Amino acid sequence: MRVAISAGASGIGKAIANSFARQGAQVYVCDVDPAAVAWCNENLPGVVAVEADVADPVSVDAFFERIAADGERLDVLVNNAGIAGPTGPIETLDVDEWRKTIDIDLNSFFYCARRAIPMLRANGGGSVVNMASNVAFHGFPLRSPYTASKWAIIGLTKTMAMELGPDGVRVNALCPGSVEGPRIDRVIEKDAACRGRTVEQVEAEYKSQNSLRTFARNEDIVAMVQFLCSSAGERISGQAIGIDGHTEGLSLRMDN
Ligand code: NAD
Repeated sequence: MRVAISAGASGIGKAIANSFARQGAQVYVCDVDPAAVAWCNENLPGVVAVEADVADPVSVDAFFERIAADGERLDVLVNNAGIAGPTGPIETLDVDEWRKTIDIDLNSFFYCARRAIPMLRANGGGSVVNMASNVAFHGFPLRSPYTASKWAIIGLTKTMAMELGPDGVRVNALCPGSVEGPRIDRVIEKDAACRGRTVEQVEAEYKSQNSLRTFARNEDIVAMVQFLCSSAGERISGQAIGIDGHTEGLSLRMDN
């Protein structure tokens, strides 16, 4: 099995890459962070990490040319790239920050998909997993470009599922809630600063928004990716699957 992962050299992407490599797959990940790329190359046997900027289609092309240099086969694409983007009311957001978030969180999925699709078709089938978020089902105050990107990913997923299904390629979106780790810690810190609350208050507020009152873990995401890419998932396509303890709503208290 050969697997390509966008922006996968740390966080959730690294955990997914490791899970495939441990099964004997040949895994390719790209990331803009040279330190994360070097760490994967040194520590994860079976993973080839490549420095690339997924917001730049030329850079994405070079990543896929690196994969094709080892052979045309591709079974799995995990579109995982994503930044949290700015935190703030819409009217205060900087245009460049908006564009950067849409470029990384949405346009990169198109740049990677357009290169992966001919390889998946030639393979006679495969699996695409697009990393969305639980914000794809709700409005989420203060995180508008992130939320807009994740809603768009659901539309992209369903359209890809329709276009690729006849060729045996299934396409699904995953919608994690907050995932334990440094990224959500940074998000919570920014939100607390923006709304004049403590980190503890914001974390408790986020957890209270889902029925299980908890955060997801990398291993929860990995398990669902593995399920969808295995024969167990071979009749599942076009779905947006929550891994979020059942988000009841994402309204934040904007008042005091
Ligand atoms: P992370 O910040 O831990 O890792 C993201 C990686 O992307 C980093 O290694 C970073 O260097 C890389 N990256 C950023 N911009 C890039 C670019 N332009 N080109 C290439 N690489 C780039 O994030 P994560 O938690 O692993 O998130 C992975 C995905 O899961 C994202 O799509 C995110 O929106 C989604 N998600 C995360 C959470 C969460 O709470 N962590 C919740 C829901 C959805």
